Amino acid sequence: MMLKTVDVAAARAYPPRVSKATEPFWSALAQGRWITTVCCDCGKQSFPPQIICPHCWSDSLEWTELSQRGVIYSWTRVHAAPTIFAAESPYSVCIVDLDGGVRIACKLIEAEGLGVGTPVEIIRLRYEDGDLFAARALQA
Ligand SMILES: [Zn+2]
Repeated sequence: MMLKTVDVAAARAYPPRVSKATEPFWSALAQGRWITTVCCDCGKQSFPPQIICPHCWSDSLEWTELSQRGVIYSWTRVHAAPTIFAAESPYSVCIVDLDGGVRIACKLIEAEGLGVGTPVEIIRLRYEDGDLFAARALQA
């Protein structure tokens, strides 16, 4: 299932560093795919993608699809932003428990009535210079 894409008419304020280990993730995101690494020994997913399993230290990992849905574990609105994000403030960030057990931190697209426990979906943010991702309230 492809991520829903939202175009953003701006460049990313702080583009992610892309390493050999994370390049497959960013390439997949650019195609609307949402993937991470899964351990071939203990079967657990990790996010961000890893080269060594943080659960059992195995170096046997492969790429797998991540759930695109989850619920908000916590969130906050940032008013006093770091200088590099000042032009975007106020903005919101959240921690999402994805279905399947992976907990991630990301930008949150705020909506009326949103809070802890709100079902969300992960979306691809297509900036002029590349991609990022965010959570937003699940839309029917
Ligand atoms: Zn493992």
